Amino acid sequence: MKIRRLLNIIFLSEFVKGLYLAFFYMFKKRATVNYPFEKGTISPRFRGEHALRRYPDGEERCIACKLCEAVCPAQAITIESEPRQDGSRRTTRYDIDMLKCIYCGLCQESCPVDAIVQGPNFEFATETREELYYNKEKLLENGDRWEKEIAHNIKVDKSFR
Ligand code: SF4
Ligand code: SF4
Repeated sequence: MKIRRLLNIIFLSEFVKGLYLAFFYMFKKRATVNYPFEKGTISPRFRGEHALRRYPDGEERCIACKLCEAVCPAQAITIESEPRQDGSRRTTRYDIDMLKCIYCGLCQESCPVDAIVQGPNFEFATETREELYYNKEKLLENGDRWEKEIAHNIKVDKSFR
């Protein structure tokens, strides 16, 4: 054992092995990405930050049926609604407590009009807890911001729904 250790020291075998591995991996495909400048691909079923969607004419999709509120196992959703003059029902309040949410996706699954969805955004960390109490304006804003990606994901996943 002592002779082997001595030979290892004399011929720098550990150093040579390390150098060989460094050169070997230098030409292999990288397994890491330089986040946040590079990002990995995300499944169309990824359940990220919530968003409320609109129709192309700007009308809110949500019809205030409250199915999402009823199905939410974390009781994170709070909805209040009232009928409009034209008889349609719309929400006057739509809050999600993102701190309670467990990202199960049941709200999205239960929605008959694809109004509430979990979009592809996973970068919504905040400095305060209050910022994670989302209201209707914030959710609609998310919907407007991510509509293109959300619509694409729904289209791609349509045949499996
Ligand atoms: S993802 Fe699940 S826990 Fe979160 S709001 Fe929707 S139903 Fe509730
Ligand atoms: S988001 Fe969908 S499920 Fe929830 S109240 Fe609106 S229409 Fe109903």
